[in-house]
Amino acid sequence: MGVGVLTHEPMHMSGHADEAQAECASVQRIDQTAVLLGASEAEALGLAHSHMRIWYPRLSSRWHSQDCVSWGSADEHSPLLPW
Ligand SMILES: [Zn+2]
Repeated sequence: MGVGVLTHEPMHMSGHADEAQAECASVQRIDQTAVLLGASEAEALGLAHSHMRIWYPRLSSRWHSQDCVSWGSADEHSPLLPW
């Protein structure tokens, strides 16, 4: 969850004012943050998948978007997807 928060907050600084948009952009970059913090690629991808499977569904509607799914409008189609 800490890596998620660390990834989420800069999304606001990059222009995502809406919490759900910021969180969706964040979940697609959690693996990058984890690698910067020293995780291996495999650990980072595992963390991103865990975040999406365990934490993301528990977020309140303010931070959660139906569009934050594979091929949803918020999907950035990055090579390593969290879903
Ligand atoms: Zn936020």
